[in-house]
Amino acid sequence: ATPTAVMVATGVGANNGILIKGGDALERAQKIKYVVFDKTGTLTQGRPTVTTMKTFTEMNRGDLLTLVASAEASSEHPLGRALVEYARHFHFFNEPSAAKGSQNDHNESNFSGWLLDVLDFSALPGRGVQCFIHGKMVLVGNRKLLLENEVTIPDEAENFVVQLEESGKTGIFVAYNDTLIGVLGLADPLKREAAVVVEVLKNMGVQPVMVTGDNWRTASAVAKEVGILDVRAEVMPSGKVDAIRSFQKDGSTVAMVGDGINDSPALAAADVGIAIGAGTDIAIEAADYVLMRNSLEDVITAIDLSRKTFSRIR
Ligand code: ADP
Ligand code: MG
Repeated sequence: ATPTAVMVATGVGANNGILIKGGDALERAQKIKYVVFDKTGTLTQGRPTVTTMKTFTEMNRGDLLTLVASAEASSEHPLGRALVEYARHFHFFNEPSAAKGSQNDHNESNFSGWLLDVLDFSALPGRGVQCFIHGKMVLVGNRKLLLENEVTIPDEAENFVVQLEESGKTGIFVAYNDTLIGVLGLADPLKREAAVVVEVLKNMGVQPVMVTGDNWRTASAVAKEVGILDVRAEVMPSGKVDAIRSFQKDGSTVAMVGDGINDSPALAAADVGIAIGAGTDIAIEAADYVLMRNSLEDVITAIDLSRKTFSRIR
């Protein structure tokens, strides 16, 4: 392609909210063989909401949510934010002693206020959060987090979470003082265009892949819904880079599409890093393409543009 053609293509991209960082990036996109999608916030809307909650001790639901919200108060993770938001609404509608639901809600509250003081907060990537409240350890996160802290998960809780996961939801466990006290289920719906885009990519000869830190059952359910056959789940943030490298092994050109938080190293490792949506500054910096409109359709437009610019018969 002539420099003029590259300039024209870059301009066409910009008009569609597709920012392309240079002619090399534009050229590499025509050879993309795999598109690796992050799940949360890339294939999904990235705004999870709590759909269910269950307690497993005498503690009432308000107190369970007080612990959850306090532990997650300074979390920047979308799951943490969704949990805090849910607790805020729950307390707004249930306090001081308005209509109560069924589960243990007749039990006296052990706490005053809906946010408690927290000591030694830590966010544990790929697992959840940990802190101390009233001198006792609070854990909010996945199985891995509870297993690492030797908290036993009763069968009833495990079965409840398996059911959530089989329907594509994420189950979050809550432990207080080494005891599992509750479980919450969160749903994060697919973006409206996700399934169509996956279908079109396949027809273009591009293989879609999904990579996520979420558990296998949830990941598989979501992948099935969107039409992706190749799934890598329970991948720690650092492991996304390894996933990219494994697809590059035979010399294939690999694109990574991600929205930020943990995705910057993988965006940088990919042959074509595509940041989607507002994203984080580091993600935008690590990427070769930025899709400003937050629509997955622009992944197709980007590949098309490159193919048309570089394989035109002259
Ligand atoms: P993703 O690739 O989907 O963005 P992450 O690596 O951010 O995944 O998180 C993986 C898993 O770790 C989540 O599905 C959740 O189970 C757990 N997790 C991470 N952060 C939190 C948090 N703040 N609260 C609860 N669970 C969390
Ligand atoms: Mg993510």
